[in-house]
Amino acid sequence: STLLLGAGYFGRRALQRRRVLSDLAMRDELTGQPNRRAIMAYARAQFEQGRQLDVPMTLALIDLDHFKQVNDSLGHAAGDAVLRALALAAREVLRGQDRFGRWGGEEWLLVMPGTGVAEMPAVFERLRERFAATTAAGVEGRHGCTFSMGAAALSEQTATLDALIAACDEQLYTAKADGRNRLAFAAEA
Ligand code: GH3
Ligand code: MG
Ligand code: MG
Repeated sequence: STLLLGAGYFGRRALQRRRVLSDLAMRDELTGQPNRRAIMAYARAQFEQGRQLDVPMTLALIDLDHFKQVNDSLGHAAGDAVLRALALAAREVLRGQDRFGRWGGEEWLLVMPGTGVAEMPAVFERLRERFAATTAAGVEGRHGCTFSMGAAALSEQTATLDALIAACDEQLYTAKADGRNRLAFAAEA
């Protein structure tokens, strides 16, 4: 029986190790948020569900404004801290099924199941305010960083998930071109 208990122990250990490893494979190291692979998998699942059940679903791409300048003036470590501050702000303001994943560099994908595009101005404001008030380690006072957001909602016209993300990207471009630190969205994509 000692042998059996031992086998159970090592079995559990192996399971735990696998869980830790799969968690690592799905998380962005710097911020602890879902990485690109994980957020894409979540977006795909919610996209399919939104279509099948005919429930709202909104995606948003977020890109920090003039982030190159932040790195240049405050240093790369401070830039990293600003990225962590944004992740923390997102964890604090987003709700249940919302997921905020690192898309790459200083770009993020926000997946909001059950949320229509009409709710996005309020979502944007909440995140903007919280991010502005969140301190970044090593940066004295307010970091002063802002972000732009491009959002698009699932609709009957949406052909694919990639098309929906492309619509977000187009809106993000508009938000940047219109002066940054703002939201642009498409009612349908
Ligand atoms: P824009 O408002 O047009 O988005 O300007 P930008 O300077 O943010 O644009 P760009 O995409 O050209 O620059 C992104 C910068 O983000 C460049 C890169 O050094 C920085 N960056 C990307 N990933 C990281 C990271 O993990 N840490 C830090 N500190 N900087 C990063
Ligand atoms: Mg960028
Ligand atoms: Mg940028």
